[in-house]
Amino acid sequence: TQYVFRFGGGVSDGDDTVRGNKNLLGGKGANLDGMASIGLPVPPGFTITTEMCTAYYANGQSFPDSVRAEVAHGIAHIEAVTGKSFGDASDPLLVSVRSGARVSMPGMMDTVLNLGLNDETVEGLAASSGDPRFAWDSYRRFIQMYADVVLELDHGAFEEALEIAKEDNGYYLDTELTAGDLKSLVSEYKNLVEAQWGKPFPQNVQDQLWGAVGAVFGSWESERAKVYRRLNSIPSDWGTAVNVQAMVFGNMGETSATGVAFTRDPATGENAYYGEYLINAQGEDVVAGIRTPQYLTTAARERAGAKPLSMEEAMPEVYAELARVFAILETHYRDMQDIEFTVERGTLWMLQTRSGKRTAKAALKIAVDMAAEGLISEEEAVCRVDPMALDQLLHPTLDPDAPRDVLTKGLPASPGAASGKIVFDADTAEQFAQMGESVILVRVETSPEDIHGMHAAKGILTARGGMTSHAAVVARGMGRPCVSGAGGISIDAKDKVLRTGGRSFGEGDVITLDGSTGEVMAGEVPTLQPELVGDFGTLMVWADKARRMKVRTNAETPADAQTARDFGAEGIGLCRTEHMFFDAARITAVRQMILADSEAGRRAALDKLLPEQRSDFAGIFKVMAGLPVTIRLLDPPLHEFLPHEESEFADVAQAAGVGIELLKQRASELHEFNPMLGHRGCRLGVTFPEIYEMQARAIFEAACLLEIAPVPEIMIPLVGTKRELELMKEVVDKAAEQVFAEQGRRIEYLVGTMIELPRAALMADKIAECGAFFSFGTNDLTQTTLGVSRDDAARFLSVYVDKGIYERDPFVSLDIEGVGQLIEIAAQKGRATRPDIKLGICGEHGGDPASIAFCEATGLDYVSASPYRVPIARLAAAQAAL
Ligand code: ADP
Ligand code: MG
Ligand code: MG
Repeated sequence: TQYVFRFGGGVSDGDDTVRGNKNLLGGKGANLDGMASIGLPVPPGFTITTEMCTAYYANGQSFPDSVRAEVAHGIAHIEAVTGKSFGDASDPLLVSVRSGARVSMPGMMDTVLNLGLNDETVEGLAASSGDPRFAWDSYRRFIQMYADVVLELDHGAFEEALEIAKEDNGYYLDTELTAGDLKSLVSEYKNLVEAQWGKPFPQNVQDQLWGAVGAVFGSWESERAKVYRRLNSIPSDWGTAVNVQAMVFGNMGETSATGVAFTRDPATGENAYYGEYLINAQGEDVVAGIRTPQYLTTAARERAGAKPLSMEEAMPEVYAELARVFAILETHYRDMQDIEFTVERGTLWMLQTRSGKRTAKAALKIAVDMAAEGLISEEEAVCRVDPMALDQLLHPTLDPDAPRDVLTKGLPASPGAASGKIVFDADTAEQFAQMGESVILVRVETSPEDIHGMHAAKGILTARGGMTSHAAVVARGMGRPCVSGAGGISIDAKDKVLRTGGRSFGEGDVITLDGSTGEVMAGEVPTLQPELVGDFGTLMVWADKARRMKVRTNAETPADAQTARDFGAEGIGLCRTEHMFFDAARITAVRQMILADSEAGRRAALDKLLPEQRSDFAGIFKVMAGLPVTIRLLDPPLHEFLPHEESEFADVAQAAGVGIELLKQRASELHEFNPMLGHRGCRLGVTFPEIYEMQARAIFEAACLLEIAPVPEIMIPLVGTKRELELMKEVVDKAAEQVFAEQGRRIEYLVGTMIELPRAALMADKIAECGAFFSFGTNDLTQTTLGVSRDDAARFLSVYVDKGIYERDPFVSLDIEGVGQLIEIAAQKGRATRPDIKLGICGEHGGDPASIAFCEATGLDYVSASPYRVPIARLAAAQAAL
């Protein structure tokens, strides 16, 4: 196997199967090779493949000999193109060692710059560049990074030494340090390394190289990388590639610079270059927030009212070259690009390009704009937007008319609004979130160690860092609102206080962030409902053209039904009736029914519930104006409706008009060891048919009230045998005939069943003889197939996902391998008996894109999702069909 592929200097190894192959070369390596091969200025280098990473771990974390020869060959390539030699004391070649997984994992894997410097080569670099300050600056940076990333020493000590060197000399900026200062700093750094590591800083450049390569592979299994992979469902066997590349220097004085840019605005999607740069600096400086970066374009600088010159102003020629490259990249990759570049003494070098992360809003705008520009087709535009990312836009935004107690303003780093309790560290964020609290994570700046807390938080606020800081990049990726660089606040993380404008806030105090404006407000600010207009609306129209499956919603109130319709729902896939029973005004009648010891007693109570149910259904039918509405008859075990607390018994008994002893006795009679598998679903209807009879009657009476008659689809839950469904259908049909006779009007309706027991799936051909539709109740079907109770799974499920037993939480994303088989069997058998049988899914999975793709492949007629997920399901269904 070939493990090393060269790029740059007119060389590109590998054939068509390698070119652009991110799985093999990693994202960074594939695109470095790609940019070089379309003639863009890329420093020469080589990529060690992801296969090597996998082999490295399979090999007990060591390299096969063949790789050493291949790497030597790669170094020779860089030497040939640059005319410098690695380790040469007079004109040394320096390289960067960069990780690059298949998908970008921000901040997870580490990079070492300026590798190849030692006590001898630093002198050579000083002489060859004619700039000793630059040489010593590069050396101190190298030691600092190597110590941190490869040797994993405490980086605080190095930063402290740097700060002290600046303070001692009365400097404010790193750039003020002279060659002499930096030289002393280097010897201090070397002492720090020896003190902490027990060995002197490695002087042999080959040792440096292999140390760094090993560290990149090693970081694949770091805790931070594992957390990121888990949160983003990245398999651990993908591995990372390593890129070794000739250094170019942005820290060679005033004609040198480094920067990051997007070909379009990643927050709004606006078709305008967007980026930041720093003069006389190296790559890491921009992201680390060491100095405040300057704007790339003059327009952005003016909009922000900033003074320091934009790159467009300071380096007009290089800027023009950069703009030319942007256009080439967008045409080549046909997507918005996120770019890293360095200017060395007036010459532009491209160091990275990738499809840029963007907010949902920007994703929509860019997709719609690019289709309009003819760069991509409408279908491609539909596929460009991650359905889950729409979630960001489907949440309420701050009401512009609501009063705001604005505390300060930072940078609008990631849009959206969030209110929550202040927490000052990631662990607390996670703990609060687990207790169901909304939290805002407040940090001076974030680092990769904070990822889990950022994920748990509703929003992120930092005092330092720019628009491309760690916090900003990660927040945008996660869709969390973020305000970064809020210089007007001071944070005391130890004592847990946030101070601003003479006011202070502690842990648990509520604040609101507006990530679109950068405003930070005290308290909670009211919000407005989102609407599907503009680019969102346009993309939805294109998605609907491409989609085959219908999208319905799970709703049990007219308000939810209306929200779902506004989001494009084409009916109701699941209306759970038990929620209606819990209503405070009715619960007493429900309890009287449960407490009654005879059918007559139960009927008396049910008569009180009938008009209530009728009006529930009428409200929903009205909103759904003629669209199909699937109503599930009562499903949960009856004891759920009885009080659980001792303290409630007296009141409940009085309200129901029974003695407290009777109530207690009934409650204990109804107690079940395993209610999930107990007296519930159609078992209630079989034992107490009058309950289902009342519900059916309410449905038909409500339907007859409306001019546009809906098509009620009456769904019998938890059926395992044909006979159960037959009995329940008789009850429903009888009620229908009675109501139709009374009302002098017939309406169309269907009786069908949920498929939520493995037996039902296996017996689907028989069951379909009696049922006109199947709706896959995948929550219960997952529970009953896996033998895992959803309510009790929390204790072990995350461990199961960590250990790779389940790839994802099977209650969130359908277990296609297992549960999926049952769905396929049921669909096939159902159709064999009844070719026109209607098939749908109504579990949580109906709103999950991966599960929706499975539903499309299985040929289901519709998916049903909660109201706010309806647009997500529409887009996912379209993508599945394309
Ligand atoms: P990350 O994935 O964290 O961005 P990178 O490998 O892209 O890590 O590198 C970190 C920084 O170092 C970036 O700003 C990049 O542009 C810069 N860099 C990497 N390689 C070189 C190089 N050969 N010459 C100059 N700068 C480099
Ligand atoms: Mg990078
Ligand atoms: Mg169920």
